[in-house]
Amino acid sequence: MISPALALLALGLLAADRPLAELPYTPGLDPAAMDRSADPCVDFYAYSCGGWQKRNPIPPDQSSWNVYAKTATENLQFLWGLLEAAAAKADAERTPPERKVGDFFLACMDEKAVDAAGAKPIAADLAAIEALKSKADLAKLVARLHLYVDGRMLFGFGSSQSFENSDEVVAWVSAGGLGLPDRDYYLKDDARSKALRKAYLVHVEETLVLSGVPGKKAAAGASTVMRIEKALARASLTQVEKRDPKAIWHHTPTSDLVRGSRSFRWTDYLADSGAPSADWVNVTEPAFLAELDRQLAKEPLPAWKTYLRWHLVRSAAPYLSTPFQKASFGFYAATLRGAKELAPRWKRCVRWTDADLGEALGQVFVARVFPPSVKGDADTMVKFVQASMAKRIDALDWMGPETKKAAHEKLAAMKNKIGYPDVWRDYSTVRVERGDFAGNIARATTFETRRQLAKIGKPVDRSEWGMTPPTVNASYEPSMNDMNFPAGVLLPPLWDPRIDLAPGYGNTGGTVGHELIHGFDDEGRQFDARGNLRDWWTENDAKEFEKRARCVSDQYAQYTVIDDIRINSQLTMGEDIADLAGILLAWDAWKMATAGQKLEPRDGLTPEQRFFVGNAQWACANMRPEDMRMRAMTDPHSPPAWRVNGLVPNVPEFAKAFSCKAGQPMVRENACRIW
Ligand SMILES: [Zn+2]
Repeated sequence: MISPALALLALGLLAADRPLAELPYTPGLDPAAMDRSADPCVDFYAYSCGGWQKRNPIPPDQSSWNVYAKTATENLQFLWGLLEAAAAKADAERTPPERKVGDFFLACMDEKAVDAAGAKPIAADLAAIEALKSKADLAKLVARLHLYVDGRMLFGFGSSQSFENSDEVVAWVSAGGLGLPDRDYYLKDDARSKALRKAYLVHVEETLVLSGVPGKKAAAGASTVMRIEKALARASLTQVEKRDPKAIWHHTPTSDLVRGSRSFRWTDYLADSGAPSADWVNVTEPAFLAELDRQLAKEPLPAWKTYLRWHLVRSAAPYLSTPFQKASFGFYAATLRGAKELAPRWKRCVRWTDADLGEALGQVFVARVFPPSVKGDADTMVKFVQASMAKRIDALDWMGPETKKAAHEKLAAMKNKIGYPDVWRDYSTVRVERGDFAGNIARATTFETRRQLAKIGKPVDRSEWGMTPPTVNASYEPSMNDMNFPAGVLLPPLWDPRIDLAPGYGNTGGTVGHELIHGFDDEGRQFDARGNLRDWWTENDAKEFEKRARCVSDQYAQYTVIDDIRINSQLTMGEDIADLAGILLAWDAWKMATAGQKLEPRDGLTPEQRFFVGNAQWACANMRPEDMRMRAMTDPHSPPAWRVNGLVPNVPEFAKAFSCKAGQPMVRENACRIW
């Protein structure tokens, strides 16, 4: 017999697997997502999200499922319809962006052609690796491969703002080289880590075989890959260490980079990468680069051929024929994160179109679903949140006037990006062919790499967007000192113009407050109003800040993620601080937005209760245990349940709204408070 949950799931999937003509509507506060049998003062997450968790089992292609992922998937389904239409129209009826994205999508959906091509799309690169005559030729080849193979092959090379002068874009040489998600996977000695390393060896071997290496050689090849990557992992910074901007900033003259390496010809690499020549670069992790150099000297050429082959195939596998896709899914999604099935082809194709031609696709999306009125409402909300922060800075009793003045300057200089870019990216030079999916991916990735490298030495473009408009996410960029809210995060159920303001200010207002606070969390506070890494704190105020930040990290360190794994609260500190102060800013902003209005209860909840339930409901989620374990090591965010149940005990307005009593789990005697 099929369980009711499975039957529901099957029905849901049948309904889900079609393009959508309109975005579906879920209200910004969904009473059905709640579980009113739970006591809000004991477990507010269960009270706000219990119904959602029961009604939203994790789809088989997902490793976790939550309100953001569900909204993003609905966006994908809507984009699917737009892309099918763009693919079907005659050329004369299509705009240039429609032609580009339509053909890209069509080539991707042609699974027969993809399967027929097998490993052919990477054959020339595999041959080039095999043809290497000496290690001295490695740099030239890697420079070319890095145009479309990511920085997990040896190291990363790209461009970003200078920490010293945020108006300038400089070259960044960053640590990389690993096929597993983090250094800790190579170095931890518990049974689970050992089992994962074993599974990784099997996966590398399997992938090498698929690429044409004979079985026996492939097993030895996998050990070679593990040996090299383990050495590189040992020399890599931990996730926590990387949160310190000073630890990843090393102004290095290009001549020192060249001279510092015995085994890698940086002059060849830099010349062949196509990057403009530069006097200096930022080396994020010098110790990593030194170890890479030692390994290059130590390991023989055939070992490097195997290593390069692995990373080339790993990076291309999702775009190659079915056996490659299955192998890649089997390890990276199933073993590491617990997903049960490869996502349907349409979903992957829409995602890739969004990733590679996102601002062409985004134009079509925005025109359909993001009216100027929504952008206007979001602008107003952001202004109220910023005004709330200004008041909070003034009211702080632990910060002196000097630091307060600099904090105000930073707040006033914060620029925001809302909805979509003013100027759309021009993809006219990306060649898209209907019968060549893997080629389209390689050309689109090359276009993006070249675009990034071309910025080196140029003034920064402060109007550029990093996320695409349908993206359901938000960010704060310390070097830009700006907040970013794509259209996707400003639509229902996150921001719902059809209902009262309370849930929307709790939810999206909380997100705006969260992003703003990233400019003032333990990491962001080290950057100034211009986005430069410059200390604007008096020594005493910095100490007072750290004392209060410690309250937050001590609190979250007590919470369990899964098994016996606790939250690594040194890793999540910035996010936890942003959550805490973010909700306070949202509360103040909501009070400003509704000043003088008489607010009515709805759905059996007071306006204040609606604010908090709205806030919690962004975080409704179900997660697979494998994914929770991976995130405990790599994700700077605490698990969703603790982002609610760790947060509200610090907010006295919450206890008041639900009449919670001292001593109950959602009430803390010594609440943490920073801002
Ligand atoms: Zn954040």
